[in-house]
Amino acid sequence: GEDTSSLSDPHFHVLMMFTKIDKSRSLQEKFRVAMLSMVKHGDFLEEEVLVLHFVSDHASQELGQRMLQEVLLDATFQYEVVFHDVVDLTHKLFPIVEAMQKHFSAGSGAYYSDAIFFLSVAMHHIMPQSLSRIVQVDLDLKYRTNIRDLFKQFDHFPPGAVLGITREMQPVYRHTFWQYRKENPKTKVGEPPPDGLPGFNSGVMLLDLKAMRASALYNQLLEPGNVAKLADQYRFRGHLGDQDFFSMIGMEHPQLFYALACGWNRQLCTWWREHGYGDVFQLYYRCDGPVYIFHGNCNTAIPDD
Ligand code: UDP
Ligand code: MN
Repeated sequence: GEDTSSLSDPHFHVLMMFTKIDKSRSLQEKFRVAMLSMVKHGDFLEEEVLVLHFVSDHASQELGQRMLQEVLLDATFQYEVVFHDVVDLTHKLFPIVEAMQKHFSAGSGAYYSDAIFFLSVAMHHIMPQSLSRIVQVDLDLKYRTNIRDLFKQFDHFPPGAVLGITREMQPVYRHTFWQYRKENPKTKVGEPPPDGLPGFNSGVMLLDLKAMRASALYNQLLEPGNVAKLADQYRFRGHLGDQDFFSMIGMEHPQLFYALACGWNRQLCTWWREHGYGDVFQLYYRCDGPVYIFHGNCNTAIPDD
């Protein structure tokens, strides 16, 4: 029958990578800021449930469960917490993403354990068919608005779009596509907004799993031969995992992506300003309009409100 899950399903699924948290006080503090701000602004209807998914190892899960009791105390909405074992997910993911790892991972080898950095790319094969939408978010975020509003963005996806994502706010892809840009001096690849293709940032991602499963184009792009072809065409060699894969296929097939407003993932990292790109930095960094979510990437402090 017709799928009406998006209309009637009262579950809002959010997923966070949550590994090695026990080893890092800094990540614990980021997680606290993210969850407290999410809870503070979170507002849902009575019958609705926020489902929090964490991809975790055993020690991080134990710590997470303890921290969640505290940070969810003031929640005014229903919630559920689901922990996914990073080892189980890696086992499922590896065969699907192994071939792309060498193009988008640090170092030369395709390490088995790096497969998890590509979870979003193959989430539609990993999560049960009944799950039709999920939002994946980083831990180093601060919410300034109701996370329920983020889910409304799914309704703006044009036909054919599988992923909602914000552009990258540093000239990192101007750098990564350096050789392609030299060989194609008129290209928009790596150019700043509004007319260029600056690539994407993976800190906030709306995954339309149903659309990902249905898209022949998207699934073709996952095939090892096609990944290699595009990586060769764009002379691409990255180390940022899923973000690199999406940025590269977005250069060729922008229609697969729904561009979230910059305020949904207002990145704060300024590393590339001091590393050779000071002259063009502001063209990428600037984000007009309201900030809904701050992203303190590369350990950047997030301003107090
Ligand atoms: N992460 C994790 N354990 C780690 C490092 C990272 O679970 O040891 C997850 C966490 O969800 C984090 C995300 O991976 O938000 C991406 O890392 P980070 O935000 O530090 O990268 P950045 O946004 O600075 O590039
Ligand atoms: Mn981050």
